[in-house]
Amino acid sequence: MPTQDEIMAAIKQIGLQPVSEKKKRQKTSVVSERKARSTGAVIRVLDNRRNEWGQEGRWISECVAHGSVVQHGTRRLAVTWASEPETWCDECQQIARSRRKID
Ligand SMILES: [Zn+2]
Repeated sequence: MPTQDEIMAAIKQIGLQPVSEKKKRQKTSVVSERKARSTGAVIRVLDNRRNEWGQEGRWISECVAHGSVVQHGTRRLAVTWASEPETWCDECQQIARSRRKID
């Protein structure tokens, strides 16, 4: 697992602004973080093993760009959802829609 410092360094390297609410996230393990091809938003998969985000589900898909969060029972679901944020993040849905109009 990368440390929080390594993650922040990587974020700066690709030219993104570090996100707020750091405190909450520092306690939660970031499993993956990548840009969704459909909307360009950075989506994270988080491991909620200490129930920092409540007990609805251990695995979390999070849209860092818009603050939307979905909890899942399995890591596989969280990873699958992370690749299509337009299905669960309202703002990503709007972005995906407007992109389709342009295409
Ligand atoms: Zn979004």
